[in-house]
Amino acid sequence: MSELTIDRVQTAILDVPLVRPHRFARTGMEAQPLLLVTLTTRGGVSGTGEGVVPGGPWWGGESVETMQLIIEKYLTPLLIGRRVDDIAGIQQAMNDVVNNNLYAKAAVEVALHDAWARNLCVPVHTLLGGLARTSIPVTWALGTESAAEVIAEAQGKLDAGLHTSFKLKMGAQEPAADVARVTEVAQKLSGVAGVRVDINARWDLLTSLQWLPRLAEAGVELVEQPVPGNEVEWLAEINAALPIPVMADESLRTPSDALRLVKLRAADVFSLKTTKSGGLRYTRAITEIAAAAGIPCHGGTSIEGPIGTAASLHLACALPGVTWGSELFGPLLMREELLTEPLRYADGALHLPDGPGLGVELDPSAVARFTRA
Ligand code: MN
Repeated sequence: MSELTIDRVQTAILDVPLVRPHRFARTGMEAQPLLLVTLTTRGGVSGTGEGVVPGGPWWGGESVETMQLIIEKYLTPLLIGRRVDDIAGIQQAMNDVVNNNLYAKAAVEVALHDAWARNLCVPVHTLLGGLARTSIPVTWALGTESAAEVIAEAQGKLDAGLHTSFKLKMGAQEPAADVARVTEVAQKLSGVAGVRVDINARWDLLTSLQWLPRLAEAGVELVEQPVPGNEVEWLAEINAALPIPVMADESLRTPSDALRLVKLRAADVFSLKTTKSGGLRYTRAITEIAAAAGIPCHGGTSIEGPIGTAASLHLACALPGVTWGSELFGPLLMREELLTEPLRYADGALHLPDGPGLGVELDPSAVARFTRA
């Protein structure tokens, strides 16, 4: 038996209120549910990971409730008694018992890294190979509201010096109206800020081929995932037809997805998410395939709270290929602080915290306040 042996696994679901409702194409949220997974070792050192999806199961089929069940019933029994540094072995064991459920596995995998790093008194990025950078630019996500509302919000962020790049969610309206809305925003922000769009897999091939060139003409600099995740051939056709980069998100969950996207030249940029891909190591494997293919990566978000955001930040700072910035704005969208010391956003970027593990500490009273009864 070792100090590193896992003695206890605890989970808690939090509902953290947002500064404003956040709209996606077909759903929205006023509070973001977060699942915290804490592993405690025999030596008394703990590590925490976050299970989080953007507002519900619409994106990938998992939710905080499914993650909690999978972790408590199926993953906890195989974690107890194993060492936190036995990460490859634990990943294999998790895959033997549970298919898919990559968000749930990511929460556990991040907790393993945090606990191991804290045992070694090193930051998580050391376990990932060391630093390529110490901060990452952060794009702000704008919702599906009217052009006037979106422009006002963007202008506020620009005036405050917080962000110089914006991503708009599309797909909530008919394409013609939606394209007119985004064109107005892109023209207004032209020369002042970058505008990207995320269609969250809501369009088909013909709609995409008809409307996306107009967005490119309007000055939109990047298009994210116009078509459903499985339709990689459609994505390749769209990518070949467009003068601006196409970014893969829903189409990219695993290293084999990355390989398929590369073979078909279906995307110019990859959106990485520790959450959707089952953790830090699988996400790093994706970036290595991307690097071999000359594809840059972007630090995507599932609207993580501070733990999940810190995990994604450590990874983005450890990976040389994450040259297309990030959208790690999750904690900025949350109305309440969960950490004893907040993550530092400044100069349009998120800065890596110091300290062992993920370098952040949860405030127990804040966690208790938002924990679901
Ligand atoms: Mn996306």
